[in-house]
Amino acid sequence: MVLRIIVGLALTAVAFAIAGRRLWWLYRLGRAGQPAPERIQAVREHPATDAETQLSEVFGQRKLLKWSVPGTAHFLTFWGFIILILTIIEAYGDLFSRRFAIPGIGHWAAIGFLEDLFAVAVLVGIATFAVIRLRTDPKREGRESRFAGSHTGAAWLVLALIFLVIATLLLYRGAQINTGVFPYAHGAFASQIVGHWLAPLGLTANKALEATFILAQLAVILGFLVFITYSKHLHIGLAPLNVLFSRRPNGLRALQPMRSGGKVLDFEEADPDTDIFGRGKIEDFTWKGMLDMATCTECGRCQSQCPAWATGKPLSPKMVILDLRDHALAKAPYLLAGSEEAREKLPDSVKDEAQRPLVGDASVNGVIDPDVIWSCTNCGACVEECPVDIEHIDHITDMRRHQVLIESAFPTEASSMLKNLENKGDPWGMGQARRLEWAEGLGFEVPVVDGPIGDDVEYLFWVGCAGALEDRARKTTRAIAELLHTAGVSFAVLGPAETCTGDPARRIGNEFVFSMLAQQNIETLNEARALKIVASCPHCFNTLAHEYPQLGGNYEVIHHTQLLARLMTEGRLTPVTPVPEKITYHDPCFLGRHNRIFTAPREIMEQVPGVQPQEMHRCKERGFCCGAGGARMWMEERIGKRINTERIDEALGTNPDTISTGCPYCLVMLGDAVSAKKSSGEAKESLEVVDVAQLLARSVRPADGGALSAPSASSDAAAPPDATAPPDAAAPPGAG
Ligand code: SF4
Ligand code: SF4
Repeated sequence: MVLRIIVGLALTAVAFAIAGRRLWWLYRLGRAGQPAPERIQAVREHPATDAETQLSEVFGQRKLLKWSVPGTAHFLTFWGFIILILTIIEAYGDLFSRRFAIPGIGHWAAIGFLEDLFAVAVLVGIATFAVIRLRTDPKREGRESRFAGSHTGAAWLVLALIFLVIATLLLYRGAQINTGVFPYAHGAFASQIVGHWLAPLGLTANKALEATFILAQLAVILGFLVFITYSKHLHIGLAPLNVLFSRRPNGLRALQPMRSGGKVLDFEEADPDTDIFGRGKIEDFTWKGMLDMATCTECGRCQSQCPAWATGKPLSPKMVILDLRDHALAKAPYLLAGSEEAREKLPDSVKDEAQRPLVGDASVNGVIDPDVIWSCTNCGACVEECPVDIEHIDHITDMRRHQVLIESAFPTEASSMLKNLENKGDPWGMGQARRLEWAEGLGFEVPVVDGPIGDDVEYLFWVGCAGALEDRARKTTRAIAELLHTAGVSFAVLGPAETCTGDPARRIGNEFVFSMLAQQNIETLNEARALKIVASCPHCFNTLAHEYPQLGGNYEVIHHTQLLARLMTEGRLTPVTPVPEKITYHDPCFLGRHNRIFTAPREIMEQVPGVQPQEMHRCKERGFCCGAGGARMWMEERIGKRINTERIDEALGTNPDTISTGCPYCLVMLGDAVSAKKSSGEAKESLEVVDVAQLLARSVRPADGGALSAPSASSDAAAPPDATAPPDAAAPPGAG
């Protein structure tokens, strides 16, 4: 008995010492990151929301359960380990007294049953994981496997350790039944089965097995504890913290302002020598960024949903996090050395690691290849899927910010877009004067804001650059204007006073140009006393609704599909003319995933008589990007399959007559892919891509195809010959 106590306590002391030392080292590494006071502040301000999130995401495993089989297996394993804390208490108690029972509950049959039930559940869980890992082995499936790039050896070791935890548990409990010291007379069904197997060995052997397997149980658990602190299984302890400090409602919607030393960067006073511009070194990440890296479970859910990865590009959101983590761990001795003298004494391998550029290609041994960060469309599929709320888009954008603002290193084809934004206020450089051309020939006058908006104007219609200047998107703008006019909604536009919201500049990493444009627009909107805005572009919508508040611009913003759906519900718009077509709807990422607007566009389609909606396999939260977000619209797509082609291939699988959407970027990207498919004979000539507003306008329009309102010219008549590529403008390469 004494030996048992000594061995048990010695094992515990050694394991706690090793694990504690490692955790302290990791804590110091996290502290080497930048401060993030806004995260602490948010937790202080929203304790109720945080508690709710912990309940649903950590204890309810909400995100994991979206993948039913692995989610259920994880749920069983997670709750198994929570319940089995009781058995760990019992094992420690047994060190001191063979008849130990947890005070108050230790003989209750229901507890014995629960412990055994979850022990079996954990076995079922790990067996499921093993099958999943065998079926999606990256050695066989290559990039197709979500585990490609993950540390699979460590994952198998963990499964083995978990198996040993349960095996030693059931063995010592079975032996206890035979030696007469088991606390539960009934209920512990699995232990009783094992006890039945061990019974023929006799009392002496069972006593020895009891002592051996109690110590073995503690040794495995303590070994597991140490292993956790050195492996991806750190997430067991860190996931609740990462979820707690993640931004709400999630890492989607608004990008965060640039911060240096915990404060929002003021460009008028910022000094590139002393302030941090984005992330140029691993220690430029905040402690929350480092917590993200340490929490990644390597599950590969993000990778499996990433459109860049799916189309053969080098970007995997998982590998971004893992590469940053590996670099942070390898550079840690340098960061924690404390003095230049101490750094000098470090091994060359550590000093070499410290010199690696954070972003750079193989020739300079960069941690992250530039093609990785420039492949991101900001679609948010990774953030949506990540079960531990890692904020991939923020990290990628922060690395882009450093590249653009400090290194001036970004895809050259995007430079004309940035120049046009600065000089002309739109990405194509077409200028303010052409912003009202879309309204020419409408059968009614579109009021243009000139001074404060009167009470008689309900909405400011934010047209957006594409809506005002891009040939195909102008048709959507005209349809929206006609529908609002028909429904009797009073609206006005800013016309030449509107400039780009700054979304492409911000998403490419040029925060300076973004804040310049945003401040200009906020001034215009405030002077116009605009309170309610309807936007047709989800990127404008997202920026106006969620990013302008960071600069003091607060407005009630609605997307045109939401407003049109409401007008239909109120009976102010009635679709009458049948549109007998099979139509598949493509969810724009910034409308759907980023802003959870899934229902309104579908409601519009469903109410149009004759429409047969067909869902693509990847839809709603799992919608697949068109390839234009994250300023990719203005970058060449040189690697892998084109994302818009991949999406159209999926759409064609539903054999549609029409593809609908709710975003001018998607309209252009999908339209281009459809044109290419028509040229190669893979799509029928009649197939077209339209905005749901155009679809509704067709149905609200009389059957003879006339105007919605007073007689007007055809909606195409006013569009310039090719607004996407005026001679003096930067044509969007991504859209080509
Ligand atoms: S935002 Fe989209 S493209 Fe970018 S890493 Fe995530 S899933 Fe991939
Ligand atoms: S980032 Fe999230 S989703 Fe991706 S592998 Fe890590 S834990 Fe899984």
